[in-house]
Amino acid sequence: MYEYDKFFVGGRWAAPTGSNRRDIVSPATEEVVASIPEATTADIDAAVAAARAAWDARTWRDAPVRERAQKILALADLLDGRTEDLAKRVTAEMGQPMGLSTRSQATAIHLIRSFVDALDRIVFEERRQGPSGPATVRREGVGVAAAISPWNGPFFLSVIKVVPALLAGCSVIAKPADNTPLTGYALAQAATELDLPDGVLSVIPAGREVGAHLVAQRGVDKVSFTGSTAAGRAIASVCGEQLKSVSLELGGKSAAIALDDVDLSVLVPAMVAGAFYNTGQACTALTRLVVHRSRYDEVVDAMVTAAKGMVIGDPMDLATQIGPLVSAEQRDRVERYIEIGKSEATLACGGGRPTNQAKGFFVEPTIFTDVRNDMRIAQEEIFGPVLSIIPFDGGDDEAIAIANDTAYGLHGAVFTPDAERAAHVARRVESGTFTINGYVNNPAAPFGGVKASGLGREFGAEGVEEYLEFHTINDPRASE
Ligand code: NAD
Repeated sequence: MYEYDKFFVGGRWAAPTGSNRRDIVSPATEEVVASIPEATTADIDAAVAAARAAWDARTWRDAPVRERAQKILALADLLDGRTEDLAKRVTAEMGQPMGLSTRSQATAIHLIRSFVDALDRIVFEERRQGPSGPATVRREGVGVAAAISPWNGPFFLSVIKVVPALLAGCSVIAKPADNTPLTGYALAQAATELDLPDGVLSVIPAGREVGAHLVAQRGVDKVSFTGSTAAGRAIASVCGEQLKSVSLELGGKSAAIALDDVDLSVLVPAMVAGAFYNTGQACTALTRLVVHRSRYDEVVDAMVTAAKGMVIGDPMDLATQIGPLVSAEQRDRVERYIEIGKSEATLACGGGRPTNQAKGFFVEPTIFTDVRNDMRIAQEEIFGPVLSIIPFDGGDDEAIAIANDTAYGLHGAVFTPDAERAAHVARRVESGTFTINGYVNNPAAPFGGVKASGLGREFGAEGVEEYLEFHTINDPRASE
């Protein structure tokens, strides 16, 4: 049982302003695994005041970038020894299978270092010569940054905001989702060992309304949000009205395209990960599989066999591949989509609750076939282990058109041994990120969405640049 009675406000543990508490229920056992204070808008106001004071004091923001990088590397070193603890926290609060959780938290720590490596690609200050004389072009932090992250990858999706924002010199208020607060507390604990300047980092797990208050707070200069498209639109409109900078990583309905020469030994493992990774609760999930008719039956058989072979069970067990969904509410939502799917297409496997689990919010890996791209299960983000397999009859351009016929544009993939055909498809699918013959995340390259999948990029130098502003100082009388 994890129990906390404070928030991390501006670098210190502070008593909450309210007296309500929130229990965190394991989605596998349905038992309470943690208890935290419920945040109020006053807790947010205290964190914003501390962050603004730190920004105005200029200690962190004016520190040489290498000094900030040293602190961040020290953070990575501290967290290295805590990967298992971080993994157990995520598994306890949201049911991510422990094997995946261990890899995912280790990847997040690797990512911390990759942001430091990426600093070499950013020119923080340069002189430029113009017709009216020289100018110094500087890049500095954008100010006070709010980092709002969702429950489906609580540590990873917080780190990819907090770390680049700190490297940029910002003061940061991290707001993890209130149902997955535990790695936020671990991050705050590590920060206490770093001796950051006062006010530079706050971590306040909170719900939607308190999150909305953080977005609207005039003391916040930049909002970085990962979550649903609906919440992203609401946040963007507030930022638009206030003219504050905003980055959004939103939903997806990404398509994997299997061409007529697809190699099943490459496709199937990638699609098992692509469709069912994190029990389908991944924004980058490949939830549509668009297959050439000449290979359709073969692909369906192989995917159904693979899905039926997946190990469903206790997420703390290292052998488990499919854990529970995060909540009863999420399971109900996924089951509603499965009912819609049954009325639209053919259920090829899954669709029910596994019989080996007495408790918990489990749903079997589910595959629909004979799906048309205009069906709801092919257009709407389900956020559960549900794959739609869609046939196409014509050339590669028909598959591309199907992949692009969506409101979203986050990810996508093509499976073919033919490098030229792969490149043709990869360049024409409208998505921020695309993968050839696989399902991967690349921390060195920018990641993000187009269309309803978002604005801005995370990872790499571009991930740090989201938190930087240009500052030009013209000096026309200078000699150079
Ligand atoms: P959500 O949008 O309800 O909540 C995400 C976070 O934002 C939570 O911390 C929540 O408290 C907060 N929040 C919600 N409404 C807010 C508002 N109006 N103002 C401020 N904060 C607000 O999403 P969720 O259900 O927690 O997460 C699932 C969704 O996130 C899925 O749709 C998924 O596709 C998306 N997602 C996207 C990415 C990506 O990188 N593109 C990654 C993970 C999840």
